[in-house]
Amino acid sequence: MDTGLENNGQPPVPTKYLDYMGFWEGLDEEKLNIQKCGSCGTFCHPPQPICPDCRTIDRTWEAVSGKGRVYSWVTYQDSPHPGFKAPFTVVLVELDEGVRMVSRMVDINPDDIETGMAVRVTFQKVTDEMVLPLFKKI
Ligand SMILES: [Zn+2]
Repeated sequence: MDTGLENNGQPPVPTKYLDYMGFWEGLDEEKLNIQKCGSCGTFCHPPQPICPDCRTIDRTWEAVSGKGRVYSWVTYQDSPHPGFKAPFTVVLVELDEGVRMVSRMVDINPDDIETGMAVRVTFQKVTDEMVLPLFKKI
């Protein structure tokens, strides 16, 4: 899989904030866990301390299909960091559950990406402690 990462570079990795732990724990098992309100069922991403719809603090995690559509994207022609090999594409995916997630597209020529393109999550272990969700065309 061409992930856009240089073999000799060390790409930056996200910080595992406590409010995201259900998300990170799911990724370790190659599951895409999205925060869900235990009261009204609203999905929320990025995770929030309270439900944006009903304002309760009753939060749960649900493994979703990982399917969605490209909402928007940008292709970097120059690398902003030595750990990333340009060109690479950052994508905003709208999951079937209605939440949007920033990630990267893999295994596709950036010229072939289109708004509304059906995509599915794939998982990449980037360090001993970190798995990231990436997206590929389906
Ligand atoms: Zn709610």
